[in-house]
Order: sequence, then C-alpha cells, then structure tokens
Amino acid sequence: MSDIKIHPSVDNGVPKGRDDFGGGKLYCHCSDNKVEVTVNAQCAHNHVCGCTKCWKPEGALFSMVAVVPRDSLSVTANEDKLSVVDSSAAIQRHACRECGVHMFGRIEDTNHPFHGLDFIHTELSREDGWAGPEFAAFVSSIIESGTPPENMGRVRSRLEELGLTPYDCLSPPLMDAIATHVAKSKGVLPS
Ligand SMILES: [Zn+2]
Ligand SMILES: [Zn+2]
Repeated sequence: MSDIKIHPSVDNGVPKGRDDFGGGKLYCHCSDNKVEVTVNAQCAHNHVCGCTKCWKPEGALFSMVAVVPRDSLSVTANEDKLSVVDSSAAIQRHACRECGVHMFGRIEDTNHPFHGLDFIHTELSREDGWAGPEFAAFVSSIIESGTPPENMGRVRSRLEELGLTPYDCLSPPLMDAIATHVAKSKGVLPS
C-alpha cells in the first residue's frame, strides 16, 4: 500500500457504485442533532479534488466531490445549523456551524455553467452504491495546502495507480462543457 493518503474513500481501492442506486441521506459529523440532507438521485462526475475550497477529512490530501441535480437535494433535519462558508464564492458551500462539515454546495448564478447542479460529498452517506470517483481535479493545488512540490510526482503516480487520472483543472468533458456554455452564451455556437 502507498504511504500517500489521497482520501480515505479511495486509499484502499476506488468504489465503483451501483447502476440501480437512487440516492441516500448525508449526515454531518456532529454526535447529536446531525444535519441531514436527502438526495433522491445517483451522483455524477464524482472525483477527488485538490483545491483549497472543498471540505476534506483530516489528513486527506484531496476532497471527494460529486454533483447531483439541485431539485433532487433537500435538507431534511437540523437545517438551522447550516451557514454559507463564503457568500462571495461561485459555489455557496453550506456547512454545519458546529462540526464544520460541508453538506452541499449550490450555485445561485443562473449564468454559471454548472447552475442546476449541487455539489456533495458522498462519504457523508452510510449507503453504498454512490458512483465512485472517476478522476482527480486541481491536482497541483494541493501545493497551496502545504504539499511540498517535490512530492507531486509520487502523488500523481498514486492517482494513476488508483485509476484516477490527474488533471490540474477539471476533466476534459467538464472543461468542454464549460467552454461550450461560454460559446453559446456569446453566440459563437448556436444554443
Ligand atoms: Zn455538524
Ligand atoms: Zn475542490
């Protein structure tokens, strides 16, 4: 086993998920009065992310984050414990004020390429079956959280070994989706 700890959900092998899975509940880390979020959909584009904004568990180099349709997600218990981490950010990350866990991220700007999708961390669910991560995004950004740059070769090798192709932005399909959205909104491509 590698001594490089990417994320607890992938360090012992990347979960694959189930095609017939229809969602589940996410819980924050409080011992009581947990914030509960209910998602009635399988997630998509699950990936590990090296950015400094996504919530990640203690000791992990990466977060693990996926998207679900916004209308499939609702807060079903202890919503009063949630507050937005940074209201100026494009993704409004709703976190538990007590334990600090980010329960979901939502984009309110209707012109944003990913408007209509909420960001979730499937590790907060007790259910198996969520689609597993497919790639690694913003890999170079882990240096901003303190990873020495000379370790990056080993980190990228470990990601390749796990089947999580490392990218220093998002994956090509997601970058293409963003560029297509921009091109359509400018009239360069037909909408
Ligand atoms: Zn909490
Ligand atoms: Zn991130």
